[in-house]
Amino acid sequence: MVADRIKYLRDTINRANYLYYIEDNPTLSDFEYDELFRELKSLEAQYPLFITPDSPTQKVGSTKIQSSFKEVKHKYRLYSLDNSNNHEELKKWYERVQKEVGNVDLVCELKIDGLAIALTYNQGVFTQGVTRGNGIFGEDITENLKTVKAIPHKISKPYNLEVRGEIYMPKTSFEKLNEENLQKGDKIFANPRNAASGSIRQLDPTITAKRDLSIFVYTPILEGIENAPKTHYESLMFLKDLGFKINENIRPVKNIEEAIEYCKEWETKRFELDYATDGVVIKVNSFGYQNELGFTARAPKWATAFKFPPEEVNTKLLDIETTNVGKTGAITPVAVLEPVLLAGSTVSRASLHNFDEIKRLDVRIGDTVLIKKAAEIIPKVIKHVDSEEHDSLPVYEAPTVCPSCGTELVVPEGEVNLYCPNTFNCPAQAKSRLEYWVSKEAMDIDFIGPNVIDQLYEKNMVKTPADFYALTQQDFMQLDLVKEKSAFNMYNSIQQSKERPLTKFLTALSIRHVGKETADLLANHFQSLEAIQNANVEEIAQIDGIGDKIAHSVKEFFAQPYNIELLKNLNLLGVHPTHKIVVQSTVLNSKTFVLTGTLSTMGRSEASEKIKQLGGKTSSSVTKKTDFVVAGESAGSKLTKAQELGITILSEEEFLKMINTEE
Ligand code: NAD
Repeated sequence: MVADRIKYLRDTINRANYLYYIEDNPTLSDFEYDELFRELKSLEAQYPLFITPDSPTQKVGSTKIQSSFKEVKHKYRLYSLDNSNNHEELKKWYERVQKEVGNVDLVCELKIDGLAIALTYNQGVFTQGVTRGNGIFGEDITENLKTVKAIPHKISKPYNLEVRGEIYMPKTSFEKLNEENLQKGDKIFANPRNAASGSIRQLDPTITAKRDLSIFVYTPILEGIENAPKTHYESLMFLKDLGFKINENIRPVKNIEEAIEYCKEWETKRFELDYATDGVVIKVNSFGYQNELGFTARAPKWATAFKFPPEEVNTKLLDIETTNVGKTGAITPVAVLEPVLLAGSTVSRASLHNFDEIKRLDVRIGDTVLIKKAAEIIPKVIKHVDSEEHDSLPVYEAPTVCPSCGTELVVPEGEVNLYCPNTFNCPAQAKSRLEYWVSKEAMDIDFIGPNVIDQLYEKNMVKTPADFYALTQQDFMQLDLVKEKSAFNMYNSIQQSKERPLTKFLTALSIRHVGKETADLLANHFQSLEAIQNANVEEIAQIDGIGDKIAHSVKEFFAQPYNIELLKNLNLLGVHPTHKIVVQSTVLNSKTFVLTGTLSTMGRSEASEKIKQLGGKTSSSVTKKTDFVVAGESAGSKLTKAQELGITILSEEEFLKMINTEE
């Protein structure tokens, strides 16, 4: 029955609204919520008889307002936005606009995934800040908003003005907050939006003050302002001139096709930003046309939002796979999921990091879990959804023995991972190390993949990396499906790897805690393999960037008879890592660079390499310690942050000049 379905949808959406807006603890993913909302809207459009004023489609936010804050009636109503997740719907929206007012210019903005607020200025001084709430009433959070540095206490003109914007927490600060909360046993936030909302709605402003919150403003109410801007774009510039922080990625466009281009562009570029965005907002530029178009009960007709494919969805956890034994013996649990569409691709596996994480999240097989895809390629499990079903499922028990060799697993002191301690005889570990040896970042040996390694290992032809170098072309031809040409390629590729740089060789050894960066530090400091082998823990630990833990691990590695034998055999078989002594420029020495945007003459890794060669350092985030920010085309939040902190910004041209004169 339609009426039953409508009732079910309304109840579910109302409950979700409460959990999302009031509790900051949603149990549905935004994608699921939007699907339910669209279904309800479409049913109501088909059966208008069922539309009631209390339907969620006719309202903004959650009906219930949190009572701990003073409830304030908004002077000007705040609205939501209609949204769609496909370009066809955007075109239909524009057709409706065209029908009413003809062809119009538009403005595209990123849709910041934060918390909407309204700020009031009296005679240019900030006096009140209120959450959007249900659009008619909101919560008075003035004291908390005063702790947000990006909100000016005084603006450059003595206007009486209301300004709307979105409070957000940078992604890096969100990760840091969750890490700290984890240590303290405090609440873990599911995403930066929840963290921003939870932080700004703290009853104690001193707690808010400790949280890194910021704002982008996007709308002024211009009533009573003389010579006020006449278009949305001008109003954003007006806000900027008054001292407000606006998002720099705004783009005026001529038609919906150009707006769709903007949506496509930001669908992937958004991952480079340090703030969460869930879509693009497209607005009619002229205020005159906006007035003509007006509002529905819930949203303006002169604007629409395009929602990016979900970065987070719920799905069922079917199993936790524990068969993956890494090169250092770490067992990595992998979530096996009911396949689900996430950020444009079907996902059936996700990372669970380690067994401590499973315990922390209390994830159980059979749970509905929220998974997320951010900048990283492999999605991760964020949390389980609270449900009766969860309570009835057995608590997950981690394995106790190695899935490959049956050895009892251990947790070394100070670690969170479970390890197989059978370092030298565990087949899975040995194969992982062989696979890593040939990988690009290690010895970079082409034509030899996991399948070939598996066969070589099972046929007892290769047990350690040294064995690769004793193989002949004929040996390879004993393997399944390997013909003369590929046997030659494999053999040749191995021979060519004999004189790889020392840093690659050190990386390839799979020393615990020694990745590419640390290998670089060791190679540059000691200059030869012998010197590293002979160094004591103190000598290693004194290198900038290497601590006691790594130093002990390195020393331990080179003390193992198995490894001594391995190095001896590699040497006998002609593997002689080389080290080029780089004379470093002292001018760039110890200067920290942050690269942002796209450089037209070189890739980011090439630019980083250049900086490193000249003795500088690169970092991924802008802090007070940053010396230079190199801003390429379409530079985003890092540029804004650099401007805020007063850090020297270099254009690509200036950067090239600098590195060329330093050479
Ligand atoms: P919305 O978030 O889809 O869009 C309206 C809001 O966008 C505005 O109020 C404003 O805060 C924000 N916004 C960000 N950047 C903007 C910009 N540049 N210009 C104008 N506005 C901008 O609408 P909503 O009514 O706040 O919430 C509905 C959405 O919230 C849903 O689509 C869903 O994604 C999410 N939600 C999820 C759950 C859940 O259970 N997961 C529950 C309720 C709501």
